[in-house]
Amino acid sequence: MLFQNTVHGHQKVLPLISHLFGLQQGRRLLTHASAIKPTRVPTDEQTALSKLPAKTLLRSALLTTVMSKPWLLRPSLAIMELVVNSKSALLNADKNPVLNRLLRWAVYNHFCAGTTCKEGSDAVRDTKKLGYHGVILGYAREVVLDPIEALDHIPSDGAKYGPKHYEIIDEWKKGNVETLDMLDAGDFLAVKVTGAGQIALDAMQDKQPMPEYLERTLDEICEETKKRGCRLWLDAEQQALQPMLDEWAIALMRKHNRGGQNLMYNTIQGYLKGSKANAERHLTLAAQEGFTVAVKLVRGAYIENEIRSLIHDTKEETDRCYDEIADMFISRRMPEGAKHLEFPSAALFLGTHNAASAEKALEAHKQRVLAGLPLTPLECGQILGMADELSCKLLQDHDKCVADSRIGDKSPRILKAFIWGSVGECMGYLYRRTVENRGAVERTQHMAAAMREEIRRRVFG
Ligand SMILES: Cc1cc2nc3c(=O)[nH]c(=O)nc-3n(C[C@H](O)[C@H](O)[C@H](O)COP(=O)(O)OP(=O)(O)OC[C@H]3O[C@@H](n4cnc5c(N)ncnc54)[C@H](O)[C@@H]3O)c2cc1C
Repeated sequence: MLFQNTVHGHQKVLPLISHLFGLQQGRRLLTHASAIKPTRVPTDEQTALSKLPAKTLLRSALLTTVMSKPWLLRPSLAIMELVVNSKSALLNADKNPVLNRLLRWAVYNHFCAGTTCKEGSDAVRDTKKLGYHGVILGYAREVVLDPIEALDHIPSDGAKYGPKHYEIIDEWKKGNVETLDMLDAGDFLAVKVTGAGQIALDAMQDKQPMPEYLERTLDEICEETKKRGCRLWLDAEQQALQPMLDEWAIALMRKHNRGGQNLMYNTIQGYLKGSKANAERHLTLAAQEGFTVAVKLVRGAYIENEIRSLIHDTKEETDRCYDEIADMFISRRMPEGAKHLEFPSAALFLGTHNAASAEKALEAHKQRVLAGLPLTPLECGQILGMADELSCKLLQDHDKCVADSRIGDKSPRILKAFIWGSVGECMGYLYRRTVENRGAVERTQHMAAAMREEIRRRVFG
């Protein structure tokens, strides 16, 4: 523990307390330290946070405090956007060492696993030590497109790709296999297909089947993942790319998710007006063709770069849609029009920081376990550095369920997701995390308050 629970330790912690709680409050806390008696009964959430190491807790408290204040978040977001979109070497985090260090200190170290395999493996190990049942690790390379530019793309009709384009696919495969080296059986590899470069991008935009070279590479990545007892998912992208990516993901599931195996997951973004129909299509195809439909359900991270009319008009509609899709899988309900088909072999991963959605889905699953009904394997995960109070609470609930002999190991696993790569490669990811925090100021305020409360608890007992 960083802080000793004694009055002597307080001199050392004044600067930190002042920083985290405001100067006046920090002084007041120190002055009255010996007189303070704990007045708050720790909530479940609070005691759950006791799992976090002091360093993570302090960084989380600091970052979430910044992110929960719109007047601080707005300029931070503007700076991040400038860095992400700039072509200047001065604003390239991999070329400018000062910028690199600054970003590492401010955001990178909080959200990312590291720049090397060694750092990545350490992050995986440290995360599991906290009690998580597994991790999801991705290789950071990606391409984010301007939506208008992407839709205006004209098919390159017959243009040949040079050796460099194929080398990029090879390098991307190498990055993904290196990622697998850091994982254990039961973990997930998160695959960003845009990282495979122009061949992949052009085919997705031009609505072409998977190019042969890319298909072979993805098959090899699937095989390698299977050999290690891991699973993989394809991250969801912007709508200019996603419809074709859905087709490719279904093709991979058809091939690799045989005999009840849930090796390959596609991602469905609940913020899209078409997402429920898309989920129904996935289920129907799986029921007709006999493969396992494995889905990671998220709300969607590209609201800033997306054609707005494709997304639900309100946050409430997105929330409702997300919960309905989750329930369709958990309750094993076939869509209208496919009721004559038997519910297929399926698996669901909930990628969310929304406590209401996570708790609703986990409760529905628990009720089915208790009623002895057939189950869809369910897991739930949050991104490293985000919603730690929810993750820790879900871990705590999981432990209670495991102790209940009627549930035991049928309680869904809780995982943490992160990426590795150079600071420059991770910038797009970091920018999206900042945007998400802007859209969830209320939750971020709640997380910041929970973190500060946990620091108070550790300092004053
Ligand atoms: C493990 C994991 C994996 C992920 N993988 C992906 C991925 O592959 N691709 C991807 O796109 N995202 C991914 N995400 C991010 C995800 O899509 C969300 O952006 C993020 O989780 C925030 O949503 P939430 O469910 O946590 O809940 P909340 O914070 O409650 O919801 C915020 C989300 O609601 C939606 N929203 C906000 N305002 C509005 C509005 N006015 N109208 C309609 N909708 C609105 C947006 O999707 C926004 O991100 C992942 C998240 C996790 C935890």
